[in-house]
Order: sequence, then structure tokens, then C-alpha cells
Amino acid sequence: MTAVMPTYGRIDLAFERGEGPYLIAADGRRYLDFTTGIAVNTLGHGHPHLVAALKAQADKLWHCSNLYHIPEQTRLAERLCAASFADKVFFCNSGAEAMEGVIKVARRYHHARGAGERYGIVAFEGAFHGRTLGTLAAGGNEKALEGFGPPVDGFVHVAFGNANEVRAAIGPDTAAILVEPIQGESGIRTPAGARFLAELREIADEFGVLLLFDEVQTGIGHTGKLFAHQWHDVTPDVMGLAKGLGGGFPVGAVLATDAACEAMTPGSHGSTFGGNPLAAAAANAVLDVIEGEGFLDGVVDVGNYLFDRVNAVAARHPEVIGSVRGRGLMLGMLCKAANMDLVAAMRERGVLLVPAGDNVARMLPPLNIGREHVDEACGALDAACAALAP
Ligand code: PLP
Repeated sequence: MTAVMPTYGRIDLAFERGEGPYLIAADGRRYLDFTTGIAVNTLGHGHPHLVAALKAQADKLWHCSNLYHIPEQTRLAERLCAASFADKVFFCNSGAEAMEGVIKVARRYHHARGAGERYGIVAFEGAFHGRTLGTLAAGGNEKALEGFGPPVDGFVHVAFGNANEVRAAIGPDTAAILVEPIQGESGIRTPAGARFLAELREIADEFGVLLLFDEVQTGIGHTGKLFAHQWHDVTPDVMGLAKGLGGGFPVGAVLATDAACEAMTPGSHGSTFGGNPLAAAAANAVLDVIEGEGFLDGVVDVGNYLFDRVNAVAARHPEVIGSVRGRGLMLGMLCKAANMDLVAAMRERGVLLVPAGDNVARMLPPLNIGREHVDEACGALDAACAALAP
């Protein structure tokens, strides 16, 4: 028992340092990190460019209030806009805070148009948007909501991937549709129809509601594009980012078109720490690498290799792994054995995976791994599956 509030079921393991895609435990054991702090350490551990950028900023200025201009933050906002649909960015510190901001932008948009009754959000079963009261309601997971009083009003949930249900759920009080392009926490679930996001765009335009994307987990290159929705010919009005954006430094962002956020005037929203000089320096350094020539092509290439190798292991052990899904370096193995057993068996063999819903074991490696790391992980996977086979 420690003095830390026991909100996590923790594994009895602590890490002392990281080197590239490896984490080194207090006892010296090395682990290949296919967890990356759950899609956070985008460039692995101790990346020289990130370390140098953060150290340089630490020598100059750590924190400064948003009462003043923060040049590193302005630069980061300009870069995110240049690389996306967005015209403006609000910075915060986490995924939940980003999604809270996304929801607030949507509600405020209608309020400014004299339609304050339009505050409802159509969201999806299996979604995860965070642990604040608003984002818990947005996720709609009953277990996660239990004991925290009445859920924040205004969220309805329909089947993920079903555009007809979305259309039917829209009413005069609807402000927006909120979706993860790939549902991460509930098991790397991709909507069955390739046109699903485009259909949501069409429905949003038809009913005059906003389209909100949660790219907290899928964003910053995990699928092989900077943002997962860029695989589809569709853009949202507002999008939340966090996790990989700072490469391990806490930073979140709300990206919006000018039209969607025109009501976000001074005093309408805020964050003490959001986009402070250290956070902005870290995120700018992440973008320097991810936007580098050929980097995302490399993610696609090594992601395809990983997909093929994991599928080959799954074919050898169909009683342990049923199927493989996902995109780029965001893969889910739909387990036949208990996913926790596969995660534990991999850990015993020096590879860290993350469990998810739907009995899935997730692979979320750093985006700069090489084929040799895939080979190492898949060697361990083969051995773990052999050990788990009935
Ligand atoms: N949205 C998505 C899609 C997520 O996967 C997560 C976290 O797993 C969040 C929001 C919440 O992010 P955070 O834990 O940084 O608050």
C-alpha cells in the first residue's frame, strides 16, 4: 500500500529510465515498450531532439500566464493549423480537458446563434473521451459513471458505425456529433463502413450541427497520417488532441475552424497551464520530427510490416488470437485467450502491451521503431501464444 490513491490496478513493476523504444526497470530488466504510456511517447524515450528542445526551454522560461503572448504556443498553433482543417487552437493539458473544450465550443457555437437549447451531443457506444464529469457523460460508460451523481445532461449514444441511428438521434436540441475515428479504449474498433466519417459530415451539414472528432489517441501520426481522419476525405469542425502531441510532456489542444469557434471570446474558456512554454516547446519538437520528410511514410511501412507479422503469429495460434485490426502503429489483437493473460505473458517475455475493451490487447509502439523491433515483439508474441495455447 502506498500513499497514492488506489484508482489504478497497478502492475508490480517500476521503471527507472527509457532508451528509445525500451524501458529499463529498477532491477535493470529491459522491456520493449509497445505501450508508450498509452499512445504518448510518440518518439520513444530520450529522443535527442525532444530532450534538447525541453532542456533549452527549461533554461529560458518554464511557465508564463496566458495573460501574455507565449511565442512558442503561437508557433505551435500556427503549425497545427497549417497541417489541418483548423484556423484556431486552444491549449490545455490532457485529453479529457481537450474533449471538454471541444464540447464547450460546440455548445457555445449554437448559444451565440440564439439557439442555446441546442446543447445535445450524439456520441457512440463504446466511446471513451475522458474522466471529467462532462467527458464521462460523453463516453456514456455506466461503470465509469457509477457513483458520481447524475451524468451531465445532453448526451445520447448510438451504435458505432451506424449512420442511420445518428440521423434518427438528431433532434431540435442537437448541437453536434462526436466521434473517435478509431475507438481506442474499447478495443481499436474501426467503423465497418469506409464512408462512415463522410456520412457523419453529410448528416452534420444537413442538420446544421457540428462534427467533432476525438483524435486524442489516433492523432499525431499513430495511423500513418498526422490525424486519422486524413485517411478519409472529410474534416471536422472541432477536434481534440493530447497524448502523443507532447511526446510525454502533458499538453492537449482543441482545434477548430473560425466559424465553429467564433463565440470563444476572451473569458469564455481558459487554463492556467495550457500551452505553457515547456509544453509548447515539447510539442513543437515532436512536430519537427513527425513532419520531417518521409517520417509518416515510415510509420505506414513499419505498420504494414507489423500487421503482417502479427497476422502470421495469429494464424499459427488461432486459439489465442482471433483477429488483428487497426491502422499504422495502432493495432489491436482480438484475443481468444484472456487479453490480460496475453499482456502478462508478453511482459514476462520483455514486451509491454496494453489491454483494451472487447478482450483486445493493443500494440501502441513508438512511431520511430524499426523492423527489428517488430521482429523482437513478434518473436515474443509467438512464444507467449505457444505458452498460452490450451
Ligand atoms: N479521448 C480518447 C480517445 C482517449 O483515448 C483518452 C484517453 O485514453 C481521452 C480522451 C482522455 O485523455 P486523458 O487521459 O489525457 O484525459
